[in-house]
Amino acid sequence: MTKGIQPWRRLVEVFEGAVILGLPFLRINGQSALRFDVPSLRLYFFGAAIWMDEFFIVLVAIIFLVLLFVFVTLMVGRVWCGWVCPQTVLIDYTGFFDKVKKRERERGHLAGAASYVAVLAVSIIVSASLIWYFVSPYEFIGRLLGGTLEGTVWGFWAVLSGVLFLNYAFVRHKWCATVCPYAKLQSVMFDHKTLVIAFDPSRKQECMNCMACVKTCPVGIDIRKGLEAACINCAKCIDECTNIMRSRGKKGLIGYFWGLPGETAKRMLRTNALVTGSLTAVSLVFLVYMAAIRTTLGLDVLPDYNFPPRLVQHEAVNSFVLLLENRGSEDEELDISAEGLNGAKVRPGRVLVKAGQEGRVQVYVIAGAKAMGGTKNMEMVIRSERTGKKLEQKAKFIYPGGGPEGGEGS
Ligand code: SF4
Ligand code: SF4
Repeated sequence: MTKGIQPWRRLVEVFEGAVILGLPFLRINGQSALRFDVPSLRLYFFGAAIWMDEFFIVLVAIIFLVLLFVFVTLMVGRVWCGWVCPQTVLIDYTGFFDKVKKRERERGHLAGAASYVAVLAVSIIVSASLIWYFVSPYEFIGRLLGGTLEGTVWGFWAVLSGVLFLNYAFVRHKWCATVCPYAKLQSVMFDHKTLVIAFDPSRKQECMNCMACVKTCPVGIDIRKGLEAACINCAKCIDECTNIMRSRGKKGLIGYFWGLPGETAKRMLRTNALVTGSLTAVSLVFLVYMAAIRTTLGLDVLPDYNFPPRLVQHEAVNSFVLLLENRGSEDEELDISAEGLNGAKVRPGRVLVKAGQEGRVQVYVIAGAKAMGGTKNMEMVIRSERTGKKLEQKAKFIYPGGGPEGGEGS
């Protein structure tokens, strides 16, 4: 079959396969384009390193994706299942397996055994590519060739390969029809205007009962009987029927329809579409906003309990421990200052934090005071020499003895 929808599906599947296999090899700012690094608990995302303490961004992204999923399903039905779902895509990649199994008697048991070996090879490669989203493929392959790949990675690889092999050799489309939670949920997400693949009952008298649509269906559905939850929207029945009917100079009886064919047309902009669409858009705006205000610097200020506030040559001295983070890809020279205290000095006033590193530095804040005693609110400020970006955190400066002039006594 050269015409129809299937060549387009193949194109999307090849593109998706290339992206999934190739993405871990892409490096941006010296790190994988997309990888969750387990030892450091950092997510590398297209040049940005998201540390564990800012995982709320990932949470917002997940909320956006869930809403997008609901919205897309409401509008275009199971397009995900038929075009993008890795289960469908990999079953199509291993389509040779179904063909060999169907004709094993003619082709012999050797061909049958070879098809299992081929599925196992695909499972091993696919599971390795999934591991590359956690362990850099450069490191993985280097250690594999050098014989130094860790036992846990081997174990994970073996288990994942085994699970995928069982799935692609024995379960295949049964997963979609029985276990897949998305398939179960879709019925509550569909409405009278969702895009579906259906048989047009108003033309049923034109059907030649050739059964081509049933024979081609990977999940064994007779779509002429109506929509079924097991349908994965692969559109193979559309292509088959279109070809058959074209030979008779007619239009195919199966196609894409906005809502079931024959239903009276309703508005595309119905209330549930507007609500889910708006929520998706709002969550996207929020996600973009969170990403825009995100800073690659991190600062935490702790009092230094090993150095109680004290008076040194008529000046009050407090010690703090600064926990610094540089989540960026370049080293940062940071100026440190204390604001809110008249003429306070900070020692050291500058510190270097290497790219992707955390730093713990003790600083002394020295403030003059005519009278002593009590505390005063201050702000510890770090400023990047490179970008000029600032980050501040509140802290309490303690004056030993009497009360500070103009200070906020506690
Ligand atoms: S009914 Fe058609 S679209 Fe649905 S799974 Fe079968 S062939 Fe694919
Ligand atoms: S392929 Fe078309 S004509 Fe043939 S049985 Fe299916 S719906 Fe009828």
